[in-house]
Amino acid sequence: MHKDLKLFTELVEYLISEEKNNPVATPIDTSKLYKTLDLSLNDKPTIDEDFIKTLKGIIKSTPKTASTSFYNQLFGGRIDRATLGDLLAVMLNNSMYTYKVAGPQVGIEKTILKTICDMIGYPDSADGTFAPGGSMSNYMAVLMARDKYNPSARTAGVSNKMTLYTSEASHYSIAKNASFIGVGRDQVRRVKTNDKGEMLAADLDQQISKDIEQGYQPFFVNATAGTTVLGAFDDVERLSKVCKKHDVWLHLDGAYCGAVIFSDEYKHLVKGIEHTNSFSVNAHKMLGTPLSCSIIVAKDKKHLNQSFSNDAEYLYQTDDDDFNLGKTSLQCGRRNDALKFWTLWKSVGSNGLKTIVDHQFNLAQIARDYINQHPDYTLYSFDDSISICFNYKDIPAHTLCTALYEDSQLMVGFGNFKNQEFVRMVTINSLLQEKDIMHFFKTIEKFTSSTDL
Ligand SMILES: *Cc1c(COP(=O)(O)O)cnc(C)c1O
Repeated sequence: MHKDLKLFTELVEYLISEEKNNPVATPIDTSKLYKTLDLSLNDKPTIDEDFIKTLKGIIKSTPKTASTSFYNQLFGGRIDRATLGDLLAVMLNNSMYTYKVAGPQVGIEKTILKTICDMIGYPDSADGTFAPGGSMSNYMAVLMARDKYNPSARTAGVSNKMTLYTSEASHYSIAKNASFIGVGRDQVRRVKTNDKGEMLAADLDQQISKDIEQGYQPFFVNATAGTTVLGAFDDVERLSKVCKKHDVWLHLDGAYCGAVIFSDEYKHLVKGIEHTNSFSVNAHKMLGTPLSCSIIVAKDKKHLNQSFSNDAEYLYQTDDDDFNLGKTSLQCGRRNDALKFWTLWKSVGSNGLKTIVDHQFNLAQIARDYINQHPDYTLYSFDDSISICFNYKDIPAHTLCTALYEDSQLMVGFGNFKNQEFVRMVTINSLLQEKDIMHFFKTIEKFTSSTDL
């Protein structure tokens, strides 16, 4: 192992220098990928020299998500202490299903979950788990709701017409999950949003009432803390009243921006969160841990047990089930996603997490201020969001983003809302500074003035 640890350090040094010198890797056209890099698997072993050369080639061409030029998706950067935790988790290689196999790592996971439940005002009956991503957290939420309102679904399957509700601006996983749980995509009702992309409680109320009249069984509402495109926050307090009135499950999908719970300044954006039945947050988004680190908590852990526990004599042989996390998780064998978040949280404290969150909002404000004072830009997103949506001159957003990528200038994506397409940059990398944001805009200006788009 020592030899490979040395090699690992060498490769990481190479990666870090590439990140600095070539922050946007030269993209390889998919049609040339297998000709450019030797990715083939052969009968014979590869000699070390070739192996290392191949690895370096792969590293060189892989998109650099921790570089100062990466604004493409809802994650980015590399926070040392979180990365350290994930590297340790790989070396320890526990599976989180039982206390016997994971030992204190179970306590680490439970501590994070318990602290988050307390922070959002959930009662002692609350608990949670780490899921393989935000989409799967949403899946667990909707499955718990299905089983609560239709207990026979677990054994007999779904035979009645159940309906669920989510805004037009919500994540696509909601529709996929409706199909996974046997309720069906056609049973997903799209609730209208206002011009900021926030779900309209009145429309939700109306759609639920209409469905009840027509003999459907409404059972689940998905609200979003940070919609994927605009970064909008649904009004949880108001939506929770509608959910209470109709007795349906309220889930808050905070995959993107649920981490505002760590900030005194921004937690008002999820006001009413204590009225939800479940809440999910991706620590690999705003909190900057390596992928993936996704948490779901439920107000009443009974639902986690009801939907996810299975007896298995070959697995659960010792210890109290509160410490056998396999009883409340989606998977059987499960990687340790908790340690990286714990090493980060432990070392910087809750105050440090607050600083991480606040800094992203500060960077977003800097970006909006720049756009607002510059006549060539048009802004489409709103305050209290770390998604900055804009267009530059009359250049179509997809043309600009693709050209910036192909010319190794910047990694940034585009999105659309109510038929308007725009560039979406995200200030989710908390290691960036004001100068990096300025560099982003200057790069666009310089690039477009020297290119025909
Ligand atoms: C990113 C995101 C998800 C999905 O999370 P994954 O970890 O990518 O599966 C779900 N909902 C929202 C609002 C998101 O932004």
